[in-house]
Amino acid sequence: MKCPKCQAENFETRKFCKECGAKIIMACPHCGFENLPADKFCGECGNKLTKPGGPAPTAYPKPESYTPKYLAEKILTSRSALEGERKQVTVMFADLKGSMS
Ligand SMILES: [Zn+2]
Ligand SMILES: [Zn+2]
Repeated sequence: MKCPKCQAENFETRKFCKECGAKIIMACPHCGFENLPADKFCGECGNKLTKPGGPAPTAYPKPESYTPKYLAEKILTSRSALEGERKQVTVMFADLKGSMS
C-alpha cells in the first residue's frame, strides 16, 4: 500500500502513513467511497476492492499470458512428441570376454 502523498510503502493494516502521517485510504473504484486499506470490500456499495498495481496474491497468471503464441501452438500441435510414446523394444546386450578391462 503506497502512501498517496509521499509514496512510502506502508503495511496494508496501517491507516496513516508511517513516513508523513497522511491518511491512507482505499477509494472504491466503483463509487469512490473511502475505505480503509485493509478492507476487502467497499463499505458503501460492496464492490470488491482490488489493490491498485500488481495482481492479487491468489491470482496466478495463466500460462497463455506469458507463453508466446507460436510456442503455445507448437506445444499443442506436437503434444504427442513431447509426451512421448510407448514402444516395445528388444534390447540385446553383448560383451566380449575381457573387453572391459
Ligand atoms: Zn506518506
Ligand atoms: Zn464502492
